[in-house]
Parts: sequence; C-alpha cells; structure tokens
Amino acid sequence: MVDLIGQYQGIKKQVDESISHILNSAAFINGPEVHAFQKELEEYLQVKHVIPCANGTDALQIAMMGLGLQPGDEIITADFTFAATVEVIALLRLTPVLVDVEPDTFNIDPLAIEKAITPKTKAIVPVHLFGQCANMEAIMEIAEKHDLFVIEDNAQAIGADYTFKDGTKKKAGGIAHVASTSFFPSKNLGCYGDGGAIFTNDDDLAHTIRGIVNHGMYTRYHHDVVGVNSRLDTIQAAVLRAKLPRLNSYCNKRREAARKYMKAFQGQEHIVLPKTGISCNGFCENCDCHVFHQFTIRIMNGKRDLLADHLAQKNIPFGIYYPIPLHKQKAYADSRYNESDFTVTNELVKEVISLPMHTELEDDQISFITQTVIKFLKD
Ligand SMILES: *Cc1c(COP(=O)(O)O)cnc(C)c1O
Repeated sequence: MVDLIGQYQGIKKQVDESISHILNSAAFINGPEVHAFQKELEEYLQVKHVIPCANGTDALQIAMMGLGLQPGDEIITADFTFAATVEVIALLRLTPVLVDVEPDTFNIDPLAIEKAITPKTKAIVPVHLFGQCANMEAIMEIAEKHDLFVIEDNAQAIGADYTFKDGTKKKAGGIAHVASTSFFPSKNLGCYGDGGAIFTNDDDLAHTIRGIVNHGMYTRYHHDVVGVNSRLDTIQAAVLRAKLPRLNSYCNKRREAARKYMKAFQGQEHIVLPKTGISCNGFCENCDCHVFHQFTIRIMNGKRDLLADHLAQKNIPFGIYYPIPLHKQKAYADSRYNESDFTVTNELVKEVISLPMHTELEDDQISFITQTVIKFLKD
C-alpha cells in the first residue's frame, strides 16, 4: 500500500546524517531538532502553535484534556473512521455520539451533527478522512451557533487546503480551535516510528497543552494539572525535518497517481470514484485540495469482497478502511443508537476498497492495478 523504502532513497543522505549526529550528541529527548521541526511546521501550516507529542491518538486525547472537557460531556464524531477518535473520547469518560457521514466524501455529515446536538454537547470532532477536509464551513457555523469546540482530527490530511466561501484559504489542521495529527510511518508526513502533534492558534490553550504533555508541569516539579508523558523524540523530529520541505511535492505525487486511477476508472459502471473539488468551494481551477492519504473507491455490484480476494491472489495490496461501523464495534455499541441513523456508513463498509497510494507509484503499477480491477468487475 505504501513504499517507504523507495521514498527513503530520496532523503537517505540527509536522514542518515542527522540521525548519526543525534547518536553522537545523545540528545534523544527534546533535542534541538524537535524545536526546529515545531517552528517549521508552524510556518508551513500557518498556525501559531504546534505542540509535538508521541502519536496521533495522544494528540487527540491531549487536545480534549486541554479544552477542559468533563465526564458526561457529549462529543460528536463520525461513525466511519479509525477507532482512535472515539477511543480517546471514551477513555476520558466523555460521551461519544457517533453520527453518519456523506456518501460522496466519506466525511462527517453536518446535517447529522445538527440533529445529534443536545444541551450536553460540548465538542465536534470532524476527521478529514482519506486526505480531504470535512465540510468545515458548515461545521464551524454549527459550532458557533451552539457554542461548541471543534477539534480537527487531521491525521490523514496534513498538507490539504480548505477554502471558505469568501475565498479565505487555510491548511487542514489550522481551521478549528485545535487539531491533532499523526506522524505514523504510513501517513502523508510520516516518521520512522511513532509521532504526533497538536495545533492551535489559541495562546492560552497552547500553554495548557504544553504542560499536559509534560506531566502537568508548568514549573519544574510543580504539577498543576493531571498530565501525561507524550513526547516526539529527536530522531523522529529529524526524519520529519527532512520530509516537511518535500510534503507539497509528496502531495502532488499522490494527486497525480489519483488522477491516473480516476482516468482509468472513468465510466466504469460498478465503480464510484472519490468526489473531489468540494473543500475549495469552487475556488480552485484544477482542484488540489485533496491529498489522497488513501485512494478509496466504492464497488457497487456487491462484489467488493470477491474483488479483494482477487487482488490478493494477484499480489496487489489493498485496504478495507473501514470494515465495521464504529457504532457496531463491541467497545462502542450503545442502545441509544438507531440503525436508521447510519444508512450511509452501513453501506460504505460493504462497498469501499482502498488501492495502493504513495509517492513512488509507477505508471505500469497503476495500469496493472486498474486493468486487474476493471477486468474482474466485467467478468
Ligand atoms: C492514524 C490515525 C490516528 C492515530 O494516530 P496514531 O499516531 O497511530 O496514534 C487517529 N485518527 C486517524 C483518523 C488516523 O488515521
């Protein structure tokens, strides 16, 4: 699904040199690369504060802790996403409220959000799934109207853009009150181990969060709040510093591969292609808002699982993201939920399949993959 070794060849010299330097300086924790990366990412995202941490799941949890959310507060998030989002809500004894997504973008449905709001609702967590922003214009409007926090889960869309109807353009992760991301190796900006970060433009929140990631300390050995230990290590920061200047070109390579997939699949009756050009509100000429963390199509003739078996036989990697709606997972099932509120997710889990998507995809690989898929669906 990804080719991290191929991508490493392009940055090998720089990465090897900085890692060797770190080994020789032994500044493994909080070395200068961590601070430098923080500043460079703030610059790239145009956000005031980046707070690095240990992984994307911690980043979400710490963002919620920083906002002072309390047990019993209801947090609305998508039913169709990776479990980390709902997991940290439950861990903090907040009440997860799962809602349905849109069939064409796979992102949380603003109408479903509005419907789920109660007096206990305190926050909305949109996930920018597969590399495209959720409908942030609508979500921020709903949040303002109901006085809610918005936390962007930006683990899959770093580098993506969002343009508001008035033409204001922002980077994914720099739109809401606070955002989280993951630097897991297979993410669009991935390190060579675990890593994550929290972003915010709010000075007070940034201060609070900087203490939370460091055992609740604002002054050495004074623990003012209950915190956690969550750090990005120096070696990972060095890897990320080598990759960040290339992130835009990595995104372009993914978009190029996506365009080739789309062209090859155009007009295939059993395939629904991912919808793009939504998060720019029509402002882009050649929309490049989507950064294609995944290239995910829907197979509409009920043969998704058979196609998956066939791809496996042909040694073509694929992923089913995600096979089970969160509201049907044992850990998160709840009698409050009605199946009729999850019609889109319940369909998507049976239709979606993600094809190889990374920065090193070659034309012949894309043609082999698309021809194999098309031939199978025709037979
Ligand atoms: C990867 C991912 C996470 C978790 O990130 P980790 O670094 O693996 O903890 C959270 N949310 C989404 C949407 C993700 O894709």
